[in-house]
Amino acid sequence: MPIYRCPICGRTVKRPEGTYYCSKCGQIATMVKISEKKVVTKEDAVRGMLTQTTIAPTHAAFSLLESAVFAAYTTLPKGSPRRVFVQDFAASLNRKGLLRNELVDRFCEYGYKYME
Ligand SMILES: [Zn+2]
Repeated sequence: MPIYRCPICGRTVKRPEGTYYCSKCGQIATMVKISEKKVVTKEDAVRGMLTQTTIAPTHAAFSLLESAVFAAYTTLPKGSPRRVFVQDFAASLNRKGLLRNELVDRFCEYGYKYME
């Protein structure tokens, strides 16, 4: 079942396919589907990963995180060092309130695909 996120308050809900308003923010906030994107390229994987965070794709910090993930990919050896990076990165974003608990696993799934 897809997960939808409010672009204003960041609240997430799991619902069947459909269009939803945020129950807190009301009709100014159409929830955005953030799950189940097919991963074909590294670009898809990193986008899939970072769209789990509360940072808007249009925000400069989004590009900054893309660069950090790319640097980790090129610097770290294949296998567990890269996987550990993804887990630590997720944990750090979670502690800072930039990645919600329920989206940590999905963030990591995309991250592992990126790091393959
Ligand atoms: Zn909201």
